[in-house]
Amino acid sequence: MQKKAICIHCDETKSLVKNGRTLSHNQRMLCKSCGKTFVIESKRNGIITKAFAVYQYLKGIAVCQIADQFDVDRHTVNAWVKQIDVEI
Ligand SMILES: [Zn+2]
Repeated sequence: MQKKAICIHCDETKSLVKNGRTLSHNQRMLCKSCGKTFVIESKRNGIITKAFAVYQYLKGIAVCQIADQFDVDRHTVNAWVKQIDVEI
């Protein structure tokens, strides 16, 4: 079952319609209530997934082990580590 989307601008749940996808294939939603758009990150590449992967990396778990766990390439895990490092 898909988790219900919530507008990040006004917390509306009922007036949301799909509004295409971003270049990284994440779903873009349009809120008819406030007229703003927002993006739902896919589970695989969401910020929480990335943060958790980087947390494991910092705990000393091998990159290839993390990559297996999230079903991504180890280069992807390395990119997440670099990306989170820049954002912190
Ligand atoms: Zn809204």
